[in-house]
Amino acid sequence: MSKDLAETALIDQHIYKGFHPHEGPQDVYECHICGYYHLTSKSLSRNERLQEMIDSGEMKKKQEAQRWERF
Ligand SMILES: [Zn+2]
Repeated sequence: MSKDLAETALIDQHIYKGFHPHEGPQDVYECHICGYYHLTSKSLSRNERLQEMIDSGEMKKKQEAQRWERF
């Protein structure tokens, strides 16, 4: 996974699973074994793109929309 794709996957997880900001994966990292990016919940910092979506209220909106689609 490229960094961009990994970040998109990170954000999708938060949308579809309805995580609170501190729950679930927090960032992406480059794996030394396979060279691709993976998600991590152990990062001390939150991914910038994820943080921006949370700050702007976009994450809440998308989570809300997703909740309605499920029923
Ligand atoms: Zn790997």
